[in-house]
Amino acid sequence: MTVAAYPGSFDPVTNGHLDIIHRASRIFDQVIVALFVNLEKSPMFTAEERLEMVREVTAGLPNVTVESSTGLLVDFCRRRGVDVVVRGLRAISDFDYEFQMAQMNKELYERVETVFMMTRKEHLFLSSSIVKEIARLGGDVSRFVPEGVHRRLMEKIGETGGGGLR
Ligand code: ADP
Repeated sequence: MTVAAYPGSFDPVTNGHLDIIHRASRIFDQVIVALFVNLEKSPMFTAEERLEMVREVTAGLPNVTVESSTGLLVDFCRRRGVDVVVRGLRAISDFDYEFQMAQMNKELYERVETVFMMTRKEHLFLSSSIVKEIARLGGDVSRFVPEGVHRRLMEKIGETGGGGLR
Protein backbone atom coordinates (compact mmCIF):
# COMPACT_ATOMS: atom_id res chain seq x y z
CA MET A 1 0.00 0.00 0.00
CA THR A 2 1.43 3.38 -1.00
CA VAL A 3 0.73 6.23 1.36
CA ALA A 4 1.32 9.73 0.00
CA ALA A 5 1.43 13.04 1.83
CA TYR A 6 0.50 16.33 0.19
CA PRO A 7 1.99 19.03 2.41
CA GLY A 8 1.25 22.73 2.33
CA SER A 9 -0.10 25.74 4.16
CA PHE A 10 -3.50 25.78 2.40
CA ASP A 11 -4.25 29.37 3.47
CA PRO A 12 -6.85 28.85 2.06
CA VAL A 13 -7.21 25.72 -0.08
CA THR A 14 -7.80 26.65 -3.75
CA ASN A 15 -9.11 24.82 -6.82
CA GLY A 16 -5.45 24.28 -7.79
CA HIS A 17 -4.77 22.36 -4.56
CA LEU A 18 -8.04 20.47 -4.88
CA ASP A 19 -7.18 19.31 -8.39
CA ILE A 20 -3.83 17.93 -7.19
CA ILE A 21 -5.59 16.15 -4.29
CA HIS A 22 -8.13 14.56 -6.67
CA ARG A 23 -5.46 13.41 -9.08
CA ALA A 24 -3.21 12.07 -6.29
CA SER A 25 -6.15 10.16 -4.80
CA ARG A 26 -6.47 8.25 -8.07
CA ILE A 27 -2.82 7.24 -8.07
CA PHE A 28 -2.04 6.43 -4.43
CA ASP A 29 -3.84 4.10 -2.02
CA GLN A 30 -4.01 6.72 0.68
CA VAL A 31 -3.38 10.46 0.55
CA ILE A 32 -2.78 12.48 3.70
CA VAL A 33 -3.19 16.20 3.17
CA ALA A 34 -0.69 17.52 5.69
CA LEU A 35 -1.34 21.06 6.79
CA PHE A 36 1.92 22.46 8.06
CA VAL A 37 1.91 25.35 10.44
CA ASN A 38 4.73 27.56 9.21
CA LEU A 39 5.81 30.04 11.87
CA GLU A 40 7.43 32.37 9.34
CA LYS A 41 4.19 33.08 7.53
CA SER A 42 1.37 35.07 9.06
CA PRO A 43 -1.72 33.29 7.80
CA MET A 44 -5.15 34.77 7.12
CA PHE A 45 -6.89 31.68 8.52
CA THR A 46 -6.06 29.83 11.74
CA ALA A 47 -4.76 26.27 11.42
CA GLU A 48 -8.13 25.05 12.71
CA GLU A 49 -10.06 27.01 10.05
CA ARG A 50 -7.72 25.79 7.29
CA LEU A 51 -8.08 22.21 8.46
CA GLU A 52 -11.88 22.47 8.47
CA MET A 53 -11.93 23.91 4.95
CA VAL A 54 -9.66 21.17 3.55
CA ARG A 55 -11.76 18.53 5.33
CA GLU A 56 -14.97 19.96 3.88
CA VAL A 57 -13.73 20.02 0.30
CA THR A 58 -12.22 16.52 0.43
CA ALA A 59 -15.15 14.89 2.27
CA GLY A 60 -16.19 12.95 -0.85
CA LEU A 61 -12.79 11.30 -1.29
CA PRO A 62 -12.67 8.11 0.83
CA ASN A 63 -8.90 7.58 0.63
CA VAL A 64 -8.02 11.17 1.58
CA THR A 65 -7.46 12.25 5.18
CA VAL A 66 -6.40 15.63 6.52
CA GLU A 67 -4.03 16.30 9.41
CA SER A 68 -2.12 19.23 10.76
CA SER A 69 1.48 19.05 11.83
CA THR A 70 4.43 21.13 12.89
CA GLY A 71 8.13 20.41 12.50
CA LEU A 72 9.89 18.57 9.73
CA LEU A 73 8.02 16.96 6.86
CA VAL A 74 10.37 13.94 6.94
CA ASP A 75 9.55 13.32 10.60
CA PHE A 76 5.86 13.38 9.71
CA CYS A 77 6.58 10.87 6.92
CA ARG A 78 8.46 8.54 9.28
CA ARG A 79 5.68 8.70 11.88
CA ARG A 80 2.84 8.13 9.43
CA GLY A 81 4.49 5.57 7.14
CA VAL A 82 4.53 7.95 4.17
CA ASP A 83 6.66 6.87 1.18
CA VAL A 84 5.73 9.58 -1.31
CA VAL A 85 5.50 13.35 -0.99
CA VAL A 86 3.28 14.96 -3.62
CA ARG A 87 3.91 18.55 -4.69
CA GLY A 88 2.25 20.62 -7.38
CA LEU A 89 4.34 22.46 -9.95
CA ARG A 90 3.10 25.58 -11.65
CA ALA A 91 5.79 27.59 -13.38
CA ILE A 92 9.56 27.35 -13.59
CA SER A 93 9.65 29.71 -10.61
CA ASP A 94 8.32 26.87 -8.40
CA PHE A 95 11.03 24.51 -9.57
CA ASP A 96 14.03 26.00 -7.83
CA TYR A 97 12.57 25.82 -4.34
CA GLU A 98 10.87 22.48 -4.92
CA PHE A 99 14.06 20.93 -6.28
CA GLN A 100 15.97 22.07 -3.20
CA MET A 101 13.29 20.75 -0.82
CA ALA A 102 13.09 17.39 -2.59
CA GLN A 103 16.87 16.98 -2.46
CA MET A 104 16.99 17.93 1.19
CA ASN A 105 14.12 15.63 2.15
CA LYS A 106 15.86 12.74 0.38
CA GLU A 107 19.03 13.58 2.26
CA LEU A 108 17.17 13.54 5.58
CA TYR A 109 15.05 10.45 4.82
CA GLU A 110 16.33 8.19 2.06
CA ARG A 111 13.08 6.26 1.79
CA VAL A 112 10.90 9.19 0.78
CA GLU A 113 10.26 10.03 -2.88
CA THR A 114 8.93 13.38 -4.06
CA VAL A 115 6.48 13.19 -6.95
CA PHE A 116 5.58 16.37 -8.83
CA MET A 117 2.26 16.83 -10.51
CA MET A 118 1.95 19.46 -13.19
CA THR A 119 -0.81 21.97 -12.66
CA ARG A 120 -3.63 22.23 -15.16
CA LYS A 121 -3.27 25.24 -17.42
CA GLU A 122 -6.32 26.92 -15.88
CA HIS A 123 -4.58 26.84 -12.47
CA LEU A 124 -1.19 27.95 -13.71
CA PHE A 125 -1.32 31.39 -12.09
CA LEU A 126 -3.42 30.42 -9.11
CA SER A 127 -2.00 30.64 -5.59
CA SER A 128 -3.48 31.19 -2.13
CA SER A 129 -1.56 34.48 -1.90
CA ILE A 130 -2.99 35.92 -5.12
CA VAL A 131 -6.51 34.83 -4.17
CA LYS A 132 -6.20 36.65 -0.83
CA GLU A 133 -4.76 39.74 -2.47
CA ILE A 134 -7.52 39.98 -5.07
CA ALA A 135 -10.23 39.28 -2.47
CA ARG A 136 -8.88 41.99 -0.14
CA LEU A 137 -9.00 44.48 -2.99
CA GLY A 138 -12.62 43.63 -3.70
CA GLY A 139 -12.14 41.37 -6.75
CA ASP A 140 -14.25 38.32 -7.49
CA VAL A 141 -12.35 35.12 -6.62
CA SER A 142 -15.34 32.77 -6.66
CA ARG A 143 -14.02 30.77 -9.61
CA PHE A 144 -10.65 30.11 -7.98
CA VAL A 145 -11.76 28.49 -4.71
CA PRO A 146 -14.47 26.03 -3.64
CA GLU A 147 -17.79 27.60 -2.65
CA GLY A 148 -17.44 27.10 1.12
CA VAL A 149 -13.95 28.59 1.04
CA HIS A 150 -15.24 31.61 -0.88
CA ARG A 151 -17.90 32.20 1.75
CA ARG A 152 -15.34 32.04 4.57
CA LEU A 153 -12.99 34.31 2.67
CA MET A 154 -15.72 36.93 2.32
CA GLU A 155 -16.59 36.59 6.02
CA LYS A 156 -12.96 36.92 7.05
CA ILE A 157 -12.43 40.03 4.96
CA GLY A 158 -15.65 41.49 6.37
CA GLU A 159 -14.43 40.85 9.94
CA THR A 160 -10.80 41.84 9.76
CA GLY A 161 -10.12 43.33 6.36
CA GLY A 162 -8.10 40.19 5.63
CA GLY A 163 -5.54 39.94 8.41
CA GLY A 164 -2.03 38.58 7.68
CA LEU A 165 -0.07 39.42 4.58
CA ARG A 166 0.52 35.96 3.05
P1 ADP B 1 3.53 26.00 0.54
O1 ADP B 1 3.26 27.02 1.58
O2 ADP B 1 4.27 24.79 1.00
O3 ADP B 1 3.99 26.51 -0.81
P2 ADP B 1 0.89 25.86 -0.52
O4 ADP B 1 -0.29 25.63 0.37
O5 ADP B 1 1.04 27.19 -1.12
O6 ADP B 1 2.12 25.40 0.32
O7 ADP B 1 0.92 24.77 -1.66
C1 ADP B 1 1.03 23.41 -1.39
C2 ADP B 1 1.40 22.67 -2.65
O8 ADP B 1 0.42 22.89 -3.64
C3 ADP B 1 2.72 23.11 -3.27
O9 ADP B 1 3.34 21.97 -3.84
C4 ADP B 1 2.29 24.06 -4.36
O10 ADP B 1 3.24 24.12 -5.41
C5 ADP B 1 1.02 23.38 -4.81
N1 ADP B 1 0.10 24.31 -5.47
C6 ADP B 1 -0.35 25.50 -5.02
N2 ADP B 1 -1.15 26.10 -5.93
C7 ADP B 1 -1.22 25.24 -6.99
C8 ADP B 1 -1.86 25.28 -8.28
N3 ADP B 1 -2.58 26.33 -8.66
N4 ADP B 1 -1.68 24.23 -9.11
C9 ADP B 1 -0.91 23.19 -8.73
N5 ADP B 1 -0.27 23.09 -7.56
C10 ADP B 1 -0.41 24.10 -6.69
